[in-house]
Amino acid sequence: MIKIDGKQVAAKVLEEAKTAISELKAQGLTPGLAVVLIGEDPASKVYVNSKVKKCAELGLHSEKIVLPSDASQQDVLDVVKRLNEDAQIHGILVQSPPPPQIDEDAIVRAIDPRKDVDGFHPENVAKLALEDPTGYVPCTPAGCMRLLKDTGIETSGAEAVVIGRSMIVGKPMALLLMGKEGNATVTVAHSRTKDLAEVCRRADIIIAAIGKAEFVTADMVKEGAVVIDVGINRVEDSSREKGYRLAGDVAYEEVAAKCSAITPVPGGVGPMTIAMLIQNTVKAAKQSI
Ligand code: NAD
Repeated sequence: MIKIDGKQVAAKVLEEAKTAISELKAQGLTPGLAVVLIGEDPASKVYVNSKVKKCAELGLHSEKIVLPSDASQQDVLDVVKRLNEDAQIHGILVQSPPPPQIDEDAIVRAIDPRKDVDGFHPENVAKLALEDPTGYVPCTPAGCMRLLKDTGIETSGAEAVVIGRSMIVGKPMALLLMGKEGNATVTVAHSRTKDLAEVCRRADIIIAAIGKAEFVTADMVKEGAVVIDVGINRVEDSSREKGYRLAGDVAYEEVAAKCSAITPVPGGVGPMTIAMLIQNTVKAAKQSI
């Protein structure tokens, strides 16, 4: 059984990015990422700070904009407009989820698609469906594809089951797997799927993006399958200092005993997301020339 090491693959992606950043800098162009945080959500704060820190480590220009939790839609749109016009910024990310008064879809649509390094703008969603390589692919599913590739897992002709149909993970994941890069036969399962266990047992590759701790159990997994666990869930655990532990969407121990390769949580898909964000920012800087 292979325990897929996301930290190691992410380090490789970042090393490639570092080389590309040096080359761009030699041409007088420093890639820049702007991260917008609205409010005080503790998990969002951690994500935003780790993105800014990673930029600094790699020599990228970064800007962190923090808006109060009562910021208006117009406040956020004004920031996005300024960043769209800022030549030093090649990637813009508005951390999700924003406070409830903010219409997130409208914010995403206001971002210049050429700077939409999250890949959520309708233009980039269309480019993904069209397999147009100038678009930006959402970071988490792009990271999952890279994990499969670097682990030497053959997706071509494989039966893949994606559990979850969100625009952030499930849907783009399915498009990547069924496209020319993946060439897999893809089933997308979701909350209305009948007999999910039976559907999952068909899979050579399972991608779990549900948001429910340890939901995928051994009886749902075929012997020798590959399991990519996207889930990040907090589970109460009084033995931990923080009072919780992180768990994926897969019951790791029992599924690992049955499959040929699996990603752990943490240390699997998580580190890939930020690495792919940096990769997208470098791509945006290159494409701005
Ligand atoms: P989401 O809530 O938007 O989507 C969850 C999906 O799961 C939905 O499409 C729903 O239909 C499906 N689902 C829910 N209950 C189900 C059931 N009983 N049977 C089958 N399908 C069911 O969540 P998301 O944004 O796609 O995130 C999914 C998980 O991935 C979360 O745990 C999230 O924290 C995690 N995540 C991790 C990263 C990362 O960097 N590793 C990035 C994004 C999301």
